Parts: sequence; C-alpha cells; structure tokens
Amino acid sequence: MRTTGRLHLGHYFGTLRNWIKLQDEYDCYYMASDLHALTTEYADTSKITENIFEMVTDWLTVGLDPEKSVIFKQSAVHDHSELFLILSMITPLGWLQRCPTYKEQIREIKNKDLNNYGFLGYPVLMAADIFLYKANLVPVGEDQLSHLEFTRELARRFNNFYGEVLVEPLELLSESAKVPGIDGKKMSKSYGNSIFLGETDDVIKEKVKNMFTDPLKIKKDDHGHPDGCVVIKFYEIFSKGSDKYPSFNQKEKDCKAGDIGCSICKKQLTEMLSDFMKPLAEKRKTIISDKAYLEKVVIEGSKKAEEYAHKTMTEIHKALKF
Ligand code: SF4
Repeated sequence: MRTTGRLHLGHYFGTLRNWIKLQDEYDCYYMASDLHALTTEYADTSKITENIFEMVTDWLTVGLDPEKSVIFKQSAVHDHSELFLILSMITPLGWLQRCPTYKEQIREIKNKDLNNYGFLGYPVLMAADIFLYKANLVPVGEDQLSHLEFTRELARRFNNFYGEVLVEPLELLSESAKVPGIDGKKMSKSYGNSIFLGETDDVIKEKVKNMFTDPLKIKKDDHGHPDGCVVIKFYEIFSKGSDKYPSFNQKEKDCKAGDIGCSICKKQLTEMLSDFMKPLAEKRKTIISDKAYLEKVVIEGSKKAEEYAHKTMTEIHKALKF
C-alpha cells in the first residue's frame, strides 16, 4: 500500500478487512510502499516517514498482527530497487504505455507533473515487489487485474531469457465493499471527501451532515430517490447484521414512499459511524503514542522481509550469471 498517510473507510472496506482475514490463512507480507509514494510525491518528501507511521498505525488498529504477518517498509529492503532496475532492462516500453491505470492517472492527476520515468515504470516496481517474495497469490481488486497480467507476462519474459526463477502470481479476488466519499465520488484523500479511521464524534457528525442526499427530497413526505444518495450507501454497509436500526431494504422503501426524512437517516448513520469508530479511535491513540513500538514493528518486519528477498536476489544473480 502506498504510503499516503492516514487511511479512510474506503481503504478499510476495500482492502484492510480482507487483509485481516488473510493473515489467518496464508503467510502474508504487507508492505508500506514508500518508493511507490515517491513516483508521485517526489517533489516533497517531508511527510514520507510520518505517513509510514500513520499508515502502519491504522493497519495495527484494525487488526493486522505483526506476530502473524510480515509488516515492512519497501525502501528498507534494497532488493526492491535492484530488481526494479533489472526488470526495467527487459520491459518493453509498449507494455507500460498501454497500462490502463497509467493512462487513467495521467488523465486525472492534473496538479502534478507525472511525465517521469519512475511513474511510467511503477508496474515494474510492483512486479519486483511480488517476485521477491515468490508470492503465488496477490489480493487485488478487479481494477488491478491488468497489473497482475503484466506481472505474469514479465515473469514469463524473464524466465524465458534466464531460466525459471520468477513465480507467476495469481489474483486472490475477494469480497470488498465500495464506500463513496461524502460527495458521492470515489473516497480519496486528494478529493477531500474522506472519513478517516478513528475519526472523532464531532468530525463524524459534521461529515455526515455534509453528505450528499437526494436534492429533490426537501420535506419528509417528498418521495425520495435513494439511488443517488450517499447516506444510504453508507447505511447499507453499516446496518448489516444490526437489529438496532431498520434494514437497508426497509430504509429504501421508506425513502421512496416519503415516510422518512433525511435528518433521521443522517442521525442514525452518525450513531452507527460513531459506534464503529469509538474503539478504533481509542486503540489508534494508544498505538500512535508508542513510537518505539511502531518502529520496532517496522524494523523487525523489514528484517524478515529482507531475509526472504535476499534469497530470491541470490537466485536472480545466479540466473543472470552475475
Ligand atoms: Fe437518502 Fe435517507 Fe434522504 Fe432518502 S431519506 S434521500 S435515503 S438520506
């Protein structure tokens, strides 16, 4: 995960919830990708270290366990940089230029100059990250399948030149829920529409208050259109399994029939979010205040990762006849 600082509900429901489950079933490596952060944040690195600690704090807060999984920092394992360089030599430019996420980000990120070699080559760095640990499974969302296909093609190309060293990874698709931002766009820190893990009651209240609802539903008895309402999208996720609040289906029906107003929906959602966040906020506060513990987790995890990565690099050197 790129080290961009504090994590939000989009990260939790899209990725982290799944990571927590996986650590009981597999040998997992979870990496704070500071080198990846550099591909777009190269002009100002002042926040990189702080962002690593903020992010790892969130990981530990939601339940990643350094006793079960290897939690490490990418730049602490130098083999990532070396393998990136080696793979760069055999990666055809066309493969990178046609990468859909590259094209999409170049189109969408307008406030940064991304016309640099590192940004074009970030799928190569991602491939190096996977190969070093001989990962046979990578937990990804549908939108990252093209990266994994690229990684497999690159493994085949390498193995074809130098012998069977790199493992072709498969995707581990898992159930994830998409959480919109409070404005209805994708939840993203750069859009300023996020709800962060461990947010306080006051902030939650304010953010829910600002959530986009049906603009045509002014009065309680107006017939609503829940399809475009952000509040109900959150409600659907947070009401699951709860008998304290009306079900999602009931809420949808009541909205359409004009039996409820937006203020009651927002009040209930504020309560749900506060209940969810309260234990996280307390745990987060304890973890972030113990810098020594956080450093220990990252240093020890990075040592374990390095040990594995070195073994793979030795095989790669041998294959290259270095
Ligand atoms: Fe959304 Fe509830 Fe308002 Fe309907 S009543 S538009 S579901 S907030």
